[in-house]
Amino acid sequence: MTSHQGEHSYLAKTFGLRGTTALVTGSTRGIGLAIARALASAGANVIVHGRRFSEAESVAASMSRATAVAADLADPLEVARLVDRVLDWDAPLDILVNNAGVEIGARVETMEPNDLHRTLEVNLAAPLALVRGLLPALRRSPAASIINVSSIHETVPSWGNTAYAASKAALAMATKTLAIELGPEGIRVNAIAPGAIATDINALVIKEIGDENFRDWIPLRRVGVPEEIGPAAVFLASTGARYMTGATLVIDGGYAHHLVRYRHSDHS
Ligand code: NAP
Repeated sequence: MTSHQGEHSYLAKTFGLRGTTALVTGSTRGIGLAIARALASAGANVIVHGRRFSEAESVAASMSRATAVAADLADPLEVARLVDRVLDWDAPLDILVNNAGVEIGARVETMEPNDLHRTLEVNLAAPLALVRGLLPALRRSPAASIINVSSIHETVPSWGNTAYAASKAALAMATKTLAIELGPEGIRVNAIAPGAIATDINALVIKEIGDENFRDWIPLRRVGVPEEIGPAAVFLASTGARYMTGATLVIDGGYAHHLVRYRHSDHS
């Protein structure tokens, strides 16, 4: 064996996901799509999820070994139907990525009651219902891994964004609590906390604040792209992270360390 082949087999053994099955919520676009593509490239069979089946199906058709499901995660009945659909396949689920999320930016005094409800349903209640409902399939995997996509706002406040930041802080604590509950069964639970990543969710905010201002706040001097999140999901799902649980990988170009610089005058 050449040293090149040795390196290749080490990487495949440590980070390869061949033969595994991964459900990635919200993988029709943005960060979820990049995670789904990265997992598929590492060999996983990916279940692509979005609200509309036709969109999920066309994304799945663009990957090898992928299939599609649809459910509105703001509706607990649809979440329950998604669980049943996955359990009906009667196969192990090795990787669950709770990525789908909504961000309805509003100051507390202008927040509609439904904004808070919807945010908590999609960003917190649905991930927990999926973990709970899919446990039988996760338990059939020899090394199941759950990855919750939170945000740097799980720890750093986000002005005018209380519902979102609170939902991510709750998801962060759920990650740690699930890690200690499910660890003894060999099910690992970790989180990825992205900073500012250019996707539909924050396109307007990035435009309003201005690209040059963002660059000024971020030590690596730019907003990230979804493809910079995918490799972390592959790592957390892989054997390479087999002793990691309850951890959060922050991927933000150093942004969280500078977020304390908000000025009141910027918002008056
Ligand atoms: P995005 O481009 O807006 O994509 C959101 C994804 O979630 C879409 O696939 C969407 O599906 C799905 N989704 C939204 N509401 C849903 C619902 N009610 N039911 C089912 N699926 C739903 O956002 P993104 O930036 O990729 O965000 C992905 C995750 O990263 C979120 O949890 C977000 O909070 C987190 N995050 C993002 C950033 C960032 O800067 N972008 C930073 C920190 C954390 P449809 O196509 O069906 O709408």
